[in-house]
Amino acid sequence: METYDALLASITAAPGQDSRTMFDPATGTPVGEAPVHTLEDLEQAITAARAAQPAWAALGHDARGAALLKAADAVERSAEELARLLSREQGKPLNGPNARFEVGACAAWLRAAATTPLAPETVVDDGETYAEMHYRPIGVVGAIGPWNWPMMITIWQIAPALRMGNAVVVKPSEYTPLSVLALAKVLNEELPEGLLTVVSGGRDVGEALAGHPAIGKIMFTGSTATGKAIIKSSADTVKRLTLELGGNDAGIVLPDADPKAIARDLFWGAFINTGQTCAALKRLYVHADIYDAVCDELTAVARAMPMGAGLDEGNVLGPLQNKAQYDVVAGLVEAARDSGAKILLGGNPDADQPGFFYPATLVADIDNSNPLVAEEQFGPALPIIRYTTIDEAVAMANALDVGLGASVWSPGLTEARKVAARLEAGTVWINRHGAVDPRVPFGGAKQSGYGLEFGAEGLKALGVPQVING
Ligand code: NAD
Repeated sequence: METYDALLASITAAPGQDSRTMFDPATGTPVGEAPVHTLEDLEQAITAARAAQPAWAALGHDARGAALLKAADAVERSAEELARLLSREQGKPLNGPNARFEVGACAAWLRAAATTPLAPETVVDDGETYAEMHYRPIGVVGAIGPWNWPMMITIWQIAPALRMGNAVVVKPSEYTPLSVLALAKVLNEELPEGLLTVVSGGRDVGEALAGHPAIGKIMFTGSTATGKAIIKSSADTVKRLTLELGGNDAGIVLPDADPKAIARDLFWGAFINTGQTCAALKRLYVHADIYDAVCDELTAVARAMPMGAGLDEGNVLGPLQNKAQYDVVAGLVEAARDSGAKILLGGNPDADQPGFFYPATLVADIDNSNPLVAEEQFGPALPIIRYTTIDEAVAMANALDVGLGASVWSPGLTEARKVAARLEAGTVWINRHGAVDPRVPFGGAKQSGYGLEFGAEGLKALGVPQVING
């Protein structure tokens, strides 16, 4: 375990190295100097990864799993330092489902990837034919990630890759490189040299990684637009891809739901990480019979949630991570207001406050075609749309070309599951939203991407399937 200052110093750009100052989105104060790695650095990382991978693969599942368990212990030993750095660079508060929660999830997902069983499968054994399915290491995997959950999503990408015998080169978001560099520094206390390297460069590095002939697979989490660019860059080398892209998740509240009982879970489904979450609830459809009651209960819950700087222990909501995202949220709320929608709460950012704080905002009486509904806001502003028939709600929920998550809210499980089955989304939660679990596969439908993460399915996605026939 190192102190916060020692950890930060160990990942800070060297004197003379190209660097970028990272600023705390809550205060505008500098957090640290991130190295800006080059294409040459990428080549070196790939060379080191290729050299380290065969010995790692030869260790086998049990020894690799044991190393990953030690890496999870290392994350826990440095948990507080990691959470503080994450909070400062990303903006999310220490408390609530935020920075400490994210670092805890890193350890939990590492342990799950280390211990999930994956035995060879006997596909046919009928006396004449014998066929067995194995998953062999791919080689070197590239991991490209976003800025909203930078540590946790990096672990989602690299833990199964390492468990399956691969080396990994990580390209973090330009907005949160220090968080990912610090995480890798801690993991590397327990991993062989060269096996895991972070190349903290810009889009050019991401593009080069996605097109590099020595990379066998790209794990990508980010926007749908970048996902499409990666499909193109990876085409010439026929890379395997797992794409976890943008979403615009719908939640449908059925008429028999109890507004008071569900308000808190609805709130966190939408406002986790101050709304900057891929599978957050981004459009809420409520039956007309209980529409006003749900709006009232949700407003009461949201009004009581403290928002402020991440290191202040009392806060559970933070700033937007960057100005561009702040402008998206502010623009969508203003357009909704101009269209005649009703702002129940928020919508009035304090221009004098430092940092990219946008207040928790609830927008009612809004048309389904409004941009705040139809586009991904990725921030703390939830539109609430009234419906009268289930068919109408399902049609509205399914109308977009993305389908990451969705949710149905009702005490009647049988009816809720029937509605869930009609929704075009990779996961449909009942009476909660966005609750991911390292044992349960997670992936998108439609343009939210393809490929599964987590569980045995997630491990298989980091291997090359091989049939031994005979
Ligand atoms: P982004 O697509 O702008 O950037 C993601 C990463 O891709 C960054 O590291 C960036 O440098 C890199 N990149 C950019 N252009 C590239 C290119 N041409 N080739 C290779 N790499 C390139 O996404 P973001 O703004 O950081 O993240 C927000 C988006 O991510 C939202 O749409 C959100 O819904 C989505 N997201 C999805 C999930 C999920 O699991 N489905 C999780 C988190 C975020």
